Amino acid sequence: MKTISAIKAAIAAILLCLSAASYAQEDMKKTTILLDPGHDYQNMGALASSGKPEYLFNMRIADELKNRLEENGFRVMLTHGENELSSLKDRTLFSDYDLFISLHHDSIDPEYCVSFDAQKSCTTYSGYGYSLWVSPQNPDYVKSYRMAELIGQELTAEHFIHSVHHVMVTKREALDEHLGIFSFPLCYVLRHNSRPAILIEFAVITNPVDEKNAEDPVFRGRFVGNIVKGLIRYVSEEPGSEDKAVTPKDAGRRKVSASPLRKHRRGPGAPALRK
Ligand SMILES: [Zn+2]
Repeated sequence: MKTISAIKAAIAAILLCLSAASYAQEDMKKTTILLDPGHDYQNMGALASSGKPEYLFNMRIADELKNRLEENGFRVMLTHGENELSSLKDRTLFSDYDLFISLHHDSIDPEYCVSFDAQKSCTTYSGYGYSLWVSPQNPDYVKSYRMAELIGQELTAEHFIHSVHHVMVTKREALDEHLGIFSFPLCYVLRHNSRPAILIEFAVITNPVDEKNAEDPVFRGRFVGNIVKGLIRYVSEEPGSEDKAVTPKDAGRRKVSASPLRKHRRGPGAPALRK
C-alpha cells in the first residue's frame, strides 16, 4: 500500500509540475518584451578598448536576447534596428508591450583610463562586470526593481561579477550591492516609461578583458540565458508577489565588502552616464 501511495504522490507531483510549467508558458506567451539596443549608428555610445562602437555590441546582444526569449515563448520587439536612428523619446513612444529592457555596454570616465590609444579609446583595468539600473521615477518602480532583482539573482548564482567600480569609484546609489542593482533616477528611457523598465550594462568594454568577454559567444550565451531565467521567474510569479518580495527600500544598500584584490582609485563623484 505504501508503494501505491508513493506512486500516487509522485504522479500528483509530476502533474503539479507540468501544470506549473504550462502556466508559466502561458505567462510567457502573454508577455511582450520591448528590447532597446542603446544608441544608434549616429550616436554610437562608448568606444571599446579596440575602438569598436558600443552600439554594435548593444545591437548584437539585443538580437541574441530576442532569439532566446522567443525560443522560450516570449513575444519580443526592438525599439529600432541596426540601420535605424532612434531618439530617447522615440524609444518611449511604444504602447503594446509589458516590460522594457534597455541594453548597453559600460565605459569608464577618461580620468580612470590607464591610457588612450590612437583612436582615443580608453583602456582601463579598474572597472569590469555588469550592472543593473532602475529609476525610482518609473511609475512601476517596485516591479522594475523586482525584475532587476530576479535577473541579478540568476547572474550572481552563475558567478557573474557586477561592476564594483560604481560602488567604489563613481559612488552611484547602490540599491543592492550584492546583486549589482543601482538607482538611475533621471534615466530618460526608464523614467519616461509606462511599464516596468530596467537598463542592463553588460560589460565594461573600455576594459580589454571585459571587451573580450563581450566578444565571446559562450560568455554572451550564458549571460543572456540567465537574463531569460530571471524573466521567466518574473512572469511566473503570482501577481502582487513583488510586494511581498524584497522591496527597493528593504533591499537598500545591502553592503558587501569589496574584494581586497580590487584596488580602485577613489574619484571625485558620480559621472554622468550617457543615458
Ligand atoms: Zn550606452
